[in-house]
Amino acid sequence: MSRSPHRRRWANKTYEAEAVYWRNLPLEHEARRQVTVEHANEITKRFLPDYTVTRSKGFGTAYCCWDRREIKIGGMAQTWLVLHEIAHGYGRATDKHNAAFRGRYACLVRIVLGDDTADGLRKAFADLGLDIGPEVLPTPQTTLPHPTTMKGEG
Ligand SMILES: [Zn+2]
Repeated sequence: MSRSPHRRRWANKTYEAEAVYWRNLPLEHEARRQVTVEHANEITKRFLPDYTVTRSKGFGTAYCCWDRREIKIGGMAQTWLVLHEIAHGYGRATDKHNAAFRGRYACLVRIVLGDDTADGLRKAFADLGLDIGPEVLPTPQTTLPHPTTMKGEG
């Protein structure tokens, strides 16, 4: 309720593209492999060494807490969702599901899951009219934002 309709619409479209794309990959695909906290930590620390992955209470949900340098994943979280949260971890509190986010996300998918998977995700975004920023991973931020500005992002 606190978000503007504009931002909310973009967030929904990113989620919508993900729902279309990831759910149509076979369950055996690496992207859809259910990850343990340990495996999610291995993936995450490869990109964001100061982040830690912990278990959230929900099953399928996940979110990134910038202030605590923490990614929380539910019991049913799959590999793609961890990459989504890592893409948040590179960003800023104001940089949610925008084009820059999608570029980082596609970059992470390309590195971890390969070209075919990354290209498929890009197509899913493009099919919904979503822009995709450059596939680059910026240097992770090392200055913690002020705690009162911080919220988790799913
Ligand atoms: Zn998100």
